[in-house]
Amino acid sequence: MFDSLKKELSRRALLHKAGFGLMGLSVAGVVGQIIKPVRTFAQAAPAPSKEPSLPPEKKLGWAVVGLGKFATEQIMPSFAECKRSKLVALVSGDRAKAEKYAQQYGINPKNIYNYQNYDSIRNNPEVDVIYIILPNGMHAEYSIRGAQAGKHIMCEKPMANTVEECQAMINAANKANRKLMIAYRAQYEPYNLATIQLAQSGKLGKLKSITSDHGRTLNPKDPADIWRMQKKLAGGGSLYDIGIYSLQAARYITGEEPVAISAMMYSTPGDSRFREVEENVNFVLRFPSGVLANCTSSYGYSNTKRIQVFGSDAVLELDPATDYYKHRLVIKDKNGNQEQKIEEKNQFALEMDHLCESIMQNKQPKTPGEEGLQDVRLMQLIYEAARTGKTIKV
Ligand code: NDP
Repeated sequence: MFDSLKKELSRRALLHKAGFGLMGLSVAGVVGQIIKPVRTFAQAAPAPSKEPSLPPEKKLGWAVVGLGKFATEQIMPSFAECKRSKLVALVSGDRAKAEKYAQQYGINPKNIYNYQNYDSIRNNPEVDVIYIILPNGMHAEYSIRGAQAGKHIMCEKPMANTVEECQAMINAANKANRKLMIAYRAQYEPYNLATIQLAQSGKLGKLKSITSDHGRTLNPKDPADIWRMQKKLAGGGSLYDIGIYSLQAARYITGEEPVAISAMMYSTPGDSRFREVEENVNFVLRFPSGVLANCTSSYGYSNTKRIQVFGSDAVLELDPATDYYKHRLVIKDKNGNQEQKIEEKNQFALEMDHLCESIMQNKQPKTPGEEGLQDVRLMQLIYEAARTGKTIKV
């Protein structure tokens, strides 16, 4: 039943290479009973792995802004696996830390910036792209300043705290004629791409329901979690940080935009971690095709990153679904449980190279600013649904 998957993915990779259309925030088109998503999530596969790496002088130069946990443990090491991207500059409030990493990655110390002299990066022709890996509440300012410095921007999720900030980021990139991409790594990761393909090709039968659960324990002793407890820097609680993966999954698996949202929210009373941001949000999305997505988001239980897709003929389970490595995909149908093995790839390298490809070929990236804005808009509506107890029509 799933033998054609690999062939289909590489066919889509070729389609992608040949160029794909603008990723609008469109609503699915209805033809009779068949929903044809106008969005093209599944059509954009990562660069084919057989493509050779560009020589160093042809790779685009990246500056990483904010040398925290994610930047230093995942992103910076991933440049070694990039075919179009190279790390050439660092921006940090901690000079000693930046010098240590500059030495480790062979970066010229003249390419170390701080938050005050950041704008002078405009004078550095080695830097083509700026990757914002700061606390969420700082994404807008540093993306806008980066675009004004004439650089292309990759920004971590969530795009920003508010819809207005997201729009200002899009406007700044457009005005500077630079690309703006949101680092939705799952949309470049092979297991998630396979899930999209299986769900949208009808291989599971008619889609009925999706569950998507993302949770972890917020640790007040971890420096990377301190800003996550502050609304100004985090924008929101578990929803903004990890519930966004549940929301994203529902959207990219259906290829549709939700038309109705209901939600409930709860934080443990007296728990000092949740004075400013929420602990738990459960939300339900209804899509135009009738698919219902049950999504959860929590800072109160241990590591959970699970997606299930229920079709009329088969159920797909992806668990872990949105981890960094070691995903597991199982199809359950009348023949029993079948695990689908797919070659793991470095999703961070794939997404960074995707932005380089978009720049080099002057194409809209697969996850542009508009995609990040849509999630922030929907998360605000999820909060509203939880606050009012009403089902919100989108
Ligand atoms: P960290 O706290 O580990 O890193 C943030 C870095 O930002 C700090 O180390 C610091 O770097 C800099 N910074 C500047 N001002 C402040 C401030 N006021 N408070 C705290 N840090 C500041 O966070 P993470 O690395 O976990 O997260 C950073 C971003 O990456 C977030 O937007 C998060 O959502 C995203 N992320 C994405 C993941 C994904 O899978 N896509 C996974 C994890 C995080 P310096 O000392 O160099 O100035």
